[in-house]
Amino acid sequence: MFTAFSVGLTGGVGSGKSTIATMLSACGAAIIDADAIAHQLTNAGGAAIEALRESFGSEAIAADGSLDRARMRTHVFSDVAARTRLESLLHPMIRTAMRERGAELIAGGCPYAVFVVPLLVEKGSWRDNVDRVLLIDCSEATQIARVCARTDIDEKLARSIIASQATRPQRLAVADDVLINEAPLQEIQRRVEHLHRTYVRSAAMKRSSKTL
Ligand code: ATP
Repeated sequence: MFTAFSVGLTGGVGSGKSTIATMLSACGAAIIDADAIAHQLTNAGGAAIEALRESFGSEAIAADGSLDRARMRTHVFSDVAARTRLESLLHPMIRTAMRERGAELIAGGCPYAVFVVPLLVEKGSWRDNVDRVLLIDCSEATQIARVCARTDIDEKLARSIIASQATRPQRLAVADDVLINEAPLQEIQRRVEHLHRTYVRSAAMKRSSKTL
């Protein structure tokens, strides 16, 4: 368990995870994003590059020294053993880097940490390492509309991404808090501020219970 009060924020593709993480950040929460940390580790000079080169060969590394993500995606798509090897190499590094970054931000004065983990439900072990799981939820129709509006992804691809992720009932089963992100952003902002105040109170209680 992370020492300071922490929240695992998750949700399906296009549910609004980044939007709500940005709102929580503006309130003062420490945001640690798993995807951003994974990118840092696999960028040129990143801490995972040499281990990736050793495990997957030089062809896994692009000319600029970063992980060749397109090549690796294709490789692990067709080779389950390679996917397991990649995940068992990267996931512990991502987890350690996230905890370190969270600890730095808490030491810098943030009241609590929010770990943004899109696959928190799929990769079960996160659940036991945070105090609360915050699920950003919306209908599948809203997910599809948002994903298709933002990228060149069409409805068929959006549906197949959704089908590859945990289902809404699976997510709801592990969530402590659910924010239904179907309302206008102004209303969502109001709900996020309310959640933030709740988390600040819980963080203070956790701190004081440690000093007793
Ligand atoms: P991904 O899973 O692809 O990383 P995400 O869960 O982080 O996505 P966002 O990027 O936050 O989702 O939101 C997806 C899109 O929906 C964005 O364009 C965002 O501006 C928009 N959006 C999010 N919430 C709302 C809302 N309440 N009202 C209108 N648009 C919204």
